[in-house]
Amino acid sequence: MKSLRALQELIFPIRCLGCSALGLSICSQCRRSWHPHIFRQNSRTSPHFPIYSAVQYSPIAGRVLLAAKENGLVQADELILHALKRSLFHCVQEQGIGMLIPIPSRPSIARLRGRQFLLEMSLQLSAASQLPTLENLVHVRKVRDQSTLDAKARAENLRGALTALRYLSGKAILIDDLVTTGSTLDEAARALREKGIEVAAAVTACVAEPLG
Ligand SMILES: [Zn+2]
Repeated sequence: MKSLRALQELIFPIRCLGCSALGLSICSQCRRSWHPHIFRQNSRTSPHFPIYSAVQYSPIAGRVLLAAKENGLVQADELILHALKRSLFHCVQEQGIGMLIPIPSRPSIARLRGRQFLLEMSLQLSAASQLPTLENLVHVRKVRDQSTLDAKARAENLRGALTALRYLSGKAILIDDLVTTGSTLDEAARALREKGIEVAAAVTACVAEPLG
């Protein structure tokens, strides 16, 4: 078995997702930047619900997210899933249970990638936590790429961009890969509120700023 593993690595060499060094999916050096702690954010005015995140965003964290989202690398999926599980565990301890509602990718992006990344992550969280995943949010109009926009422009770009498909009663926990300004989570909560669903908290793998 050992030789089979060596052979596999020869054919499909494992490289560090952070720095491309051969060997592990995340090397000990890059592990320092992908080290799931728990960051909880309660003090901001918007969104008004707490956000639980596990990893501080860094260039290395950015590469892990891209490797999962753009290239569908299993090792990157696993790192993100592990971070999400930690965040969710702390969230449920403090906020109680709820249904998991993933943030949808834009339809063009999902087509390109061949999957709804966060839906897949959420379903795996459901398998681990017994909390149901509900695919209840969809995009209703085109939005611009967010990455170059500031907080105000992001909020404007997203206002009214999402809608919830079904009326449901109960509490929801939003699932996203990265929180930056919180405008996506805000818009998701607004759309869900229109259908009677109150967002209790959000869970993300990464957070772009230090939290209070
Ligand atoms: Zn590395």
